[in-house]
Amino acid sequence: MKEKTILEVNNLRLSYGGIVAVRDFTLTLNKGSFLAIIGANGAGKTTLLKGLSGLKQSSGGSIKLKNRDITRTKANDRATNGITLVPEGRGIFSRLTVMENLLVGSFVKKYDKNSLEEKVEEQLILFPKLRERLNQLAGTLSGGEQQMLAIARALIGVPDLLLLDEPSMGLAPIITEQIFDVIRDINREGVTVILVEQNAGLALKMARQAIVLESGEIVQNANATELLEDDSVKKAYLGI
Ligand code: ATP
Repeated sequence: MKEKTILEVNNLRLSYGGIVAVRDFTLTLNKGSFLAIIGANGAGKTTLLKGLSGLKQSSGGSIKLKNRDITRTKANDRATNGITLVPEGRGIFSRLTVMENLLVGSFVKKYDKNSLEEKVEEQLILFPKLRERLNQLAGTLSGGEQQMLAIARALIGVPDLLLLDEPSMGLAPIITEQIFDVIRDINREGVTVILVEQNAGLALKMARQAIVLESGEIVQNANATELLEDDSVKKAYLGI
């Protein structure tokens, strides 16, 4: 089957007042891709994900999702159309229970009772730890469980494109590994993934394609395994 383009970004610019944080960002992504975005602190990675998810409006360029121009649409519209962001810091509702957080994620689709139960069950199969905690306030979960909940809450809306901002942040390596195993499975099932990670080594091992951002600009866009072997990447981001 011929791969289909899911996302087309052309010359995207994202600014804070007069400061341009991301410039000339151009990318075409096929359905089922797994793209990592790496770069130093302040390179523009989080801003880019905000720009793609609609949390931040662009100051130039265009974004098409499934061949529809979404440049001027808001985050809720983009979520309904298939882009979901799992934000840095997870963004779960700490005073709601785990189940209530999952229900919030389901609002992007108009599920009937049976499909909703099915979708919740799918998440609990992916993340069995959440099943034991369904009625617990989300704020009382461990960091790893909160990250699992944030991802489950995104997946319940069945996104076509999942944006993940630093999912490994603050987590023990073993928990990160569990979470990344799930992310890999989700991608294998056809969900397109864009992963932003400080842990460049991990990101490049997970992804098939990778972009290096420096001061808001793409300086490399290549096969992830190639970048793992690239001398400048090794030196700047892998500490080798
Ligand atoms: P980090 O890994 O530290 O999160 P990042 O690559 O995600 O970094 P961004 O957070 O996107 O980078 O920041 C890109 C640039 O935009 C930086 O120069 C930052 O100072 C600036 N910036 C980010 N948020 C704001 C804001 N709310 N107001 C003004 N400038 C901002």
